[in-house]
Amino acid sequence: MNYEFYEAEVFKIEDETPDVKRFHFKIGGENKFEFKAGQFVMFDIPLETTIISRSYSIASAPNNDNTFEICAALKSEGLATPWLWHHVTIGSKLKCSSPVGKFLLPETIDVDLCFIATGTGIAPLRSMILDIYHSGRPHKNIYLIFGNRWEKNILYRAEFEQLQHLHPEFTFIPVLSRETAETWKGALGYVHSIYMQLFSDNRKAYFYLCGWSAMIKEARLNLKERGYTKQEIKFEVYD
Ligand SMILES: Cc1cc2nc3c(=O)[nH]c(=O)nc-3n(C[C@H](O)[C@H](O)[C@H](O)COP(=O)(O)OP(=O)(O)OC[C@H]3O[C@@H](n4cnc5c(N)ncnc54)[C@H](O)[C@@H]3O)c2cc1C
Repeated sequence: MNYEFYEAEVFKIEDETPDVKRFHFKIGGENKFEFKAGQFVMFDIPLETTIISRSYSIASAPNNDNTFEICAALKSEGLATPWLWHHVTIGSKLKCSSPVGKFLLPETIDVDLCFIATGTGIAPLRSMILDIYHSGRPHKNIYLIFGNRWEKNILYRAEFEQLQHLHPEFTFIPVLSRETAETWKGALGYVHSIYMQLFSDNRKAYFYLCGWSAMIKEARLNLKERGYTKQEIKFEVYD
């Protein structure tokens, strides 16, 4: 596949949680950088002796100002993320591909949407959710089930709580696997019991799954057993 390449300049870096940073980029020059909610870009990472490529979902909603955001989790034994942590500062320029991927919202949202993420798998789902609200697209109920280990790991928490406050049809359900009933009043355990319960009536819905393969594999199996079809279950795997 042939990609176009762009120079993406970092203009903001935020520490979102202890091990996740949000990197904000602007594409310079005359190039128009257009993407759809749910797509990802590939960055060239210039290590000492070689250049490697790594994919990152765009976490921000489509806009007209040539900017976009990614959120990346540090893998301290990995190659690319330690480089991002230690070499990238405001003003750094990275080579990135044109946006790619078919993990996209349906043309018409005429049934409930159930977004299920773990960790930085939230990125393309955030882009889709913000896109729906920014563009004013008609939609039904939207559920966001977000699995993490600890409360401190919940990315974009204030923003999703605010959306839930503003939009009665938007339900945000953070689920934590390592907290206890003493430390967390919300849902405990894993994402699976939540969507199984919410959709126990097998009503029509689109499911969007994103994150690491173990969660996605189990969710696809559960939903398939419930009778949901391939067309109703979209997913993006990070590993
Ligand atoms: C479509 C897509 C979108 C993605 N979007 C995002 C995103 O939005 N945010 C995000 O954080 N990630 C995302 N990823 C994952 C991302 O591309 C990288 O895989 C991730 O950042 C890790 O890269 P790395 O080079 O730091 O780690 P890698 O070097 O690729 O290592 C990955 C893991 O393997 C382990 N490992 C490496 N070498 C060894 C070894 N020799 N022995 C044992 N273990 C080893 C490391 O500890 C590390 O945990 C996405 C992936 C895809 C495919």
